[in-house]
Amino acid sequence: MSVRETTILNKSDLKYLLIDSLRIYSDNVVFIDGNNPYRFSINKKTFYVLIKNVHESGGGRSNQDECRIQVSKTDSFNQALSTSTDVIVLGYFADEKVFTAWNPHLMRDRYNQKQTVSLYSRFSIQKKSSIQNIASYKDNNGQVIISFKAEYLGLYLENINRIHLLNEEQLLKLVEESDSFNDEDENGTMELDEGRLTITHTRYKRDPNFRRKVYDAYENKCAMCGIQLELIEAAHIIPHSHEMGTDDITNGISLCALHHTAYDRSLIYFDNEFNILLNEDKIDYLEKIGRDSGIRKFEKLSFDKILLPNNHILRPNVNNIKIANQSRGISI
Ligand SMILES: [Zn+2]
Repeated sequence: MSVRETTILNKSDLKYLLIDSLRIYSDNVVFIDGNNPYRFSINKKTFYVLIKNVHESGGGRSNQDECRIQVSKTDSFNQALSTSTDVIVLGYFADEKVFTAWNPHLMRDRYNQKQTVSLYSRFSIQKKSSIQNIASYKDNNGQVIISFKAEYLGLYLENINRIHLLNEEQLLKLVEESDSFNDEDENGTMELDEGRLTITHTRYKRDPNFRRKVYDAYENKCAMCGIQLELIEAAHIIPHSHEMGTDDITNGISLCALHHTAYDRSLIYFDNEFNILLNEDKIDYLEKIGRDSGIRKFEKLSFDKILLPNNHILRPNVNNIKIANQSRGISI
């Protein structure tokens, strides 16, 4: 029997995988806390997500197509299960870049009963989902297990109450509907036999005054690299989707398009002494998935410290910087 060479992601890699995957779906994603399970909110709804690497199901198995994850009852998993928040358990198979999900409502009792639970799926279903975006199969207990590409994680979570009731044809239709949305579209719903599914592509309406105040305070320069050239954007320090993410000037900073995206993707950040830092955990993750090209060039672009407005009252509120970094999953 040949052993599959699979890429194994560690906890920090998996956290950034989740954050990045959710942000493809919606701007309205906040990392709250936790270290597997992780607590997130997406479109104001909170979830715990426990995520494990999918692997072969071990010696003695009769079906070579079978794969699994093993879920152990850690204190933090127990704690999550004791709340009324949905606890989602996902497998990730890095070779195909797909998630596999089990029905959280069927599984909750089993997690509570046993110390370690094995959750099974099929390599062929993961492969199929990497080709057609989403795929599912019914196990011997009648549970619908779903595999899907990373960019559909938000869609999956948003429809968690009904998605495991759908057949594969309906799942394909849901994904197709979601793909047909433009950024300008706000929300969508899709009618199926059993009821309504939701498709959200949330884009925030920006406050034009916020933008003007930020540009003026920072003299139309990127606070991380000093570039002007009309390439700047008014970034929120605590993200706008976070309950504390106000349009106050002390929650704003002027960044070029590159540094704004890098900041929101947790690649670069600043501490409460305004030192600009690269997030080494995120870089490690990007190296592992082969997306780290250009990192040395990127590193050279930024100053050591944030370029601050001369007027102190316009500067970022120091107390908010920690919350801002935490909400992007940066542990400092
Ligand atoms: Zn910049």
